[in-house]
Amino acid sequence: MSEQERLHHDDMDAPYPLVALKSMVVFPRTRTTLSMAREKSIRAVEEAMSQPKHLMVVAAQQDPNIDDPEPKDIRKIGTLVEVNTLHRQQDGNYQVLLSGIRRVQLDEFIDMEPFMRVSVTQLNEPTTQGAQADALVRHATSLFERYAQLNRRFSAEDINSIVSIKTAARLSDMLAAHLVTDSEQQLDLLETLSPLERLEKICVIMGNEIEILELESTIRSRVRSQVDRTQKEFYLREQLRAIQEELGIEGTSEAAELRDKLAEKIKNGLPAEIAAKVRKEIDRLERTPAQAAEIAVIRSYIDWILELPWNERSEDSFNIENTRRILEEDHYGLEGIKERIIEFLAVRELRQKRGGSGARRESQGQILCFIGPPGVGKTSLGRSIARALGRKFARISLGGVHDEAEIRGHRRTYVGALPGRIIQSMKTVGTRNPVFLLDEIDKLSSEFRGDPAAALLEVLDPEQNHGFVDHYLEVPFDLSEVFFICTGNVKYQIPRALADRMDIIDIPGYTLDEKINIASRHLLPNVLSEHGLSPEQLKIPQTVMQHIVTDYTREAGVRSLERQLATVCRKAARRIIEKPNAHIRLTQHNLEQYLGPPRYVETPIVHKSQVGVATGLAVTEMGGMLLPVEVACMSGKGELLITGQLGDVMRESAYAALSYIRSRAEELQIDPNFQDNTDLHIHMPENALPKDGPSAGITIATALISALTRRPVRAGIAMTGEITLRGRVLGIGGLKEKVLAAHHANIYHLLIPQENRKDLVEIPAKVRQQMTFTIVDSMDKVIETALMPAPLDGNGEENQEPLSLHLDERQAPRGKKVRPAAQPDDGQENGNPVIIPPVDTDPFPQVQAHKKKRGKSQ
Ligand code: ADP
Repeated sequence: MSEQERLHHDDMDAPYPLVALKSMVVFPRTRTTLSMAREKSIRAVEEAMSQPKHLMVVAAQQDPNIDDPEPKDIRKIGTLVEVNTLHRQQDGNYQVLLSGIRRVQLDEFIDMEPFMRVSVTQLNEPTTQGAQADALVRHATSLFERYAQLNRRFSAEDINSIVSIKTAARLSDMLAAHLVTDSEQQLDLLETLSPLERLEKICVIMGNEIEILELESTIRSRVRSQVDRTQKEFYLREQLRAIQEELGIEGTSEAAELRDKLAEKIKNGLPAEIAAKVRKEIDRLERTPAQAAEIAVIRSYIDWILELPWNERSEDSFNIENTRRILEEDHYGLEGIKERIIEFLAVRELRQKRGGSGARRESQGQILCFIGPPGVGKTSLGRSIARALGRKFARISLGGVHDEAEIRGHRRTYVGALPGRIIQSMKTVGTRNPVFLLDEIDKLSSEFRGDPAAALLEVLDPEQNHGFVDHYLEVPFDLSEVFFICTGNVKYQIPRALADRMDIIDIPGYTLDEKINIASRHLLPNVLSEHGLSPEQLKIPQTVMQHIVTDYTREAGVRSLERQLATVCRKAARRIIEKPNAHIRLTQHNLEQYLGPPRYVETPIVHKSQVGVATGLAVTEMGGMLLPVEVACMSGKGELLITGQLGDVMRESAYAALSYIRSRAEELQIDPNFQDNTDLHIHMPENALPKDGPSAGITIATALISALTRRPVRAGIAMTGEITLRGRVLGIGGLKEKVLAAHHANIYHLLIPQENRKDLVEIPAKVRQQMTFTIVDSMDKVIETALMPAPLDGNGEENQEPLSLHLDERQAPRGKKVRPAAQPDDGQENGNPVIIPPVDTDPFPQVQAHKKKRGKSQ
């Protein structure tokens, strides 16, 4: 029993003023504010206030609609309350603050007027102690916490004060007053005397409420997210519409537009299966909501298909005379090459005619492949072929292609997927029979063997390429009418399977004379017109052109020569702007004003006989070059040191050369045990360029033998050839490049393998006339020709002689045998097979003569 309850206990049976409540219940142990308007009620409150303890009774009406209730209309159980305050409000009503004290039973109505007065009996609640009560209190408290969390109607203060209640009687009344809203339930709770029973009922009510609130909260969040999305979509759609309006785009009949385009394409021969595929995609496009990200993917796919040249082709116009004219017009020199191109085209034409007009047969010839250093005109030959055939031209660079997808495209499932380069170029040219130049096909293979090469094989294979499937397009595209030309710098890096399908044409590089002519006839006029200059405004005489070639460029092709001419034109253009009537003529004296100081000063190469130094020849991607080999002997323990950025093959040739020497030591007059106390160091300097290949074999052997025997290597000789362990000399590649490099470096006597004798025809006649070739088939011949007979004493250098002194001698009438240029050992004419090949009919009668002679003597 609380303080208050005890306080009023004695007055229990006294009659109290009574206020009938319409739809309210006042619970004991709680404070409630009531609004009152009825005269009777206010009188009753005033009466209570006039008593010392301000007590009265409140009880609910049976029917809230009755204004002046009689005793039968009032429920028999009510609440004894203490009136705390009474306020009159502006609207005339009264507000009363009450504190509930205890449940009472209404016994007898003493008065009805001017207010009701009743006698009551107190109702005692059963005691609530023990584990069950505690458990119930705890359960009710936790339910209330959950309820308050969901409902958010209670302040933190309210929650705290309710949670801190530990008795079932008080807790049940507090919860009944604050949480139960239904008046029937409230009345029931008021009339339930047992606190535990009340609390149980309240727990059931709270449980139900919590369930409902949880359901409500999920529904609310679902609704909210839906509303958010709808709002966002609405907002975006509005924006899109605004943008379209701003740009003047009519976003409506996109599908109709595409259908029109498709109909047009079908008229032009779009294959039926492709048309069906596009139709399906257009339907899909229509079904997809305008805001879906997929729209762009579908749209771009349809665009790709519709823009490809499924049936568009240019009229072929092959005619030998016309082709020859165009090739001549565009290119100087390259005689053999132009002929081979014409032959290739002629064969193709014939084959095509024989096969009828069927497009499939057309490409069943081999594929043309130009191999040579940069700037020798591979691309421009491709362009001329396209021009001669009246076809569109596209260049596809394969250098650095990592991935099959670059050839074959990405599947559409990738973000930002696109077709591969072949299909992309197909779209650019817009015809299905263009000329495609696949550039740097050797770079593809060297960097990433495997997949890109395999995809390319499919592109080039006439058996397969009529149904080439790009991953992006998903439908086959016919590439069989494409004329493929491949280009590359080196042959051996092309994947074998590709090389087998190709007709390889080598373009080795130009001689000085050719470069001067190309520059004057082709490069200069082009560069002039690119710079808006007329031929009269800038003149470059041949002699000056020669200086530009020799002093400012060092290359097999003419690419940097073209750049130098462009530099001259830029400077000239500026001067002409400054002085409009100027006519510029380049001379040897003013050349430096245009190009700066010479880049490659031609120091007179002093070739001298030296011990342990031999000159080899190599071919790199930049063309041919000299490859000096130096050998040093040092006392040591037989180690072999090889330096100069050499590849594995070249290292192996060095070991082969050494083994050959060891096995022939006695014949070579070398101490067979030389390795016991000698270290050998082989070094190949020259620009630290990576070098590889077997063709330095005989050069390394010569330098080694020279170092070991102290016999000097003759000056002015360069050599190339692979060596076997038995000392045989095997053939090499790139003879023309090597010869041109030697010629350029003023070396006019070359040792070349027997197997390469046939390649001499390819050397330009002018160069050939100036050169001396010694054909060698064994190391013996090499030693005989390249090494001086007697070991040198002293410093190993002798007979220093600038080569230029022998120029006249070298230009002796052809066919006449001369000794090797700059050969220092006078009187050493020793019957070596030294020849100068004539140019007319058989270029090498002397070679044969020598062979015969040799054959006899052996
Ligand atoms: P590549 O493809 O072999 O690297 P390009 O075809 O790009 O070389 O040639 C470089 C430039 O040199 C082009 O402007 C080309 O026209 C020109 N050129 C190369 N060789 C010749 C030639 N024989 N006659 C005329 N111009 C040539």
